Amino acid sequence: MTERTSGPAETEALGARIALGLGAGDIVLVAGDLGAGKTTLIRGACRALGVTEPVTSPTFTIGQRYQAPTPISHLDLYRLGELGAEEPGLLDDYLTGGAIAFVEWPGALERGFTPPALEDVRVAARVELRHRGGDEREVTVT
Ligand code: ADP
Ligand code: MG
Repeated sequence: MTERTSGPAETEALGARIALGLGAGDIVLVAGDLGAGKTTLIRGACRALGVTEPVTSPTFTIGQRYQAPTPISHLDLYRLGELGAEEPGLLDDYLTGGAIAFVEWPGALERGFTPPALEDVRVAARVELRHRGGDEREVTVT
């Protein structure tokens, strides 16, 4: 599915729709350039899943967790290329069968930093956001 959004509220609403079908153990990979709206889309999804605390980019850590009926992990793997080799178990606390996980900059995951716990989890959706000028974004969900 590919859709256009014309502002952050529309991207949050799309995130909320993506969240509808998610359950524990589901991972959503969210790709796109800086400022494309990855965190914005994840914020909308998290709100729909019952997160009330602020949802912001985990810029200085690899991830954060939010309380919700099903706990949520929010990862940003921008730096994992450097960290992954040193810390093979780094993601185990985030990618677990008991949580729903959203992953910004998922490239490192696809490159093979596979956490041992991965049999409990599955990639439920892949989202890609693209700049289309101004506040326009193209969002593909597969
Ligand atoms: P990323 O996590 O991909 O770096 P963010 O979600 O943090 O991106 O930031 C996206 C920025 O772009 C925000 O400042 C947001 O207000 C702005 N923006 C403008 N139009 C849109 C849109 N259609 N969808 C999402 N964000 C948008
Ligand atoms: Mg972000």
